[in-house]
Amino acid sequence: METHIMLDELEVGELAIEFDDQEPQDVIRWALERFGRRLAICTSFQADGLVIADMAWRIDPTVRVFTIDTGRLPQATYQFMDQVQQHYGITLEVHGPDGQQVNAMVQRHGADLFYREVPLRLLCCQVRKVLPLRRALHHLDAWVTGLRRDQWATRSNIRKLELDHDHGGIVKINPLADWAEDEVWDYIRAHKVPHHPLYDLGYTSIGCAPCTRAVQPWEEHRAGRWWWEKGAPKECGMHCAIETGGFEHELESILGHGEEAQPG
Ligand code: SF4
Repeated sequence: METHIMLDELEVGELAIEFDDQEPQDVIRWALERFGRRLAICTSFQADGLVIADMAWRIDPTVRVFTIDTGRLPQATYQFMDQVQQHYGITLEVHGPDGQQVNAMVQRHGADLFYREVPLRLLCCQVRKVLPLRRALHHLDAWVTGLRRDQWATRSNIRKLELDHDHGGIVKINPLADWAEDEVWDYIRAHKVPHHPLYDLGYTSIGCAPCTRAVQPWEEHRAGRWWWEKGAPKECGMHCAIETGGFEHELESILGHGEEAQPG
């Protein structure tokens, strides 16, 4: 029988205040001691997630690290995944979408449905990212992300420790919440952390291949994500509940495995 380590709002609130001016490594060390194997690092192989993984690995080389493989990642990401595993001598936990759900979605709307309208893009993100993440987190009591407050408006209020109500009230840890982008890259250079090759081609945020492009120097950090959309959130729903734009009905009929649709 699994023993869950759950924290309540009061404890998380007090710890969040305590951690707010602490170094990310101190927060990660606390989390590893508190949650052990019930905790895992989440990375999509962007700079921030690699910094978190590197910090955790230096504290505990057996730390669990997981990723979501949407099935539409750039080839460079798959190659980089191998490079990261070799560099750290770890085996990544890879979670993918449900094949039947992907088939149902593609049969109804085509493989590149995301270019047609925002609700279909959100449907694809739900099937390929949000639901696999939910399944990955189902067996965890805490997860660590590389989210930073200055990445996007929806992230400006994140705390280093939060209760993740979108995922059963487990603990979400954002040790880099108060870091700026140049601190991330300073760490990468100082500790020789491998970095995704697409950064060298002008990318500033890296996701699925068809939904990510390089940006111009004057563009915003996440301008290359879903760049054809106007006024839609540059989020997929993994890290925050989003306005769903009416895709729930489609999702309900695609799921079909007793899995519930939810916005975030
Ligand atoms: S980023 Fe694009 S391809 Fe990836 S899950 Fe979202 S819509 Fe689908």
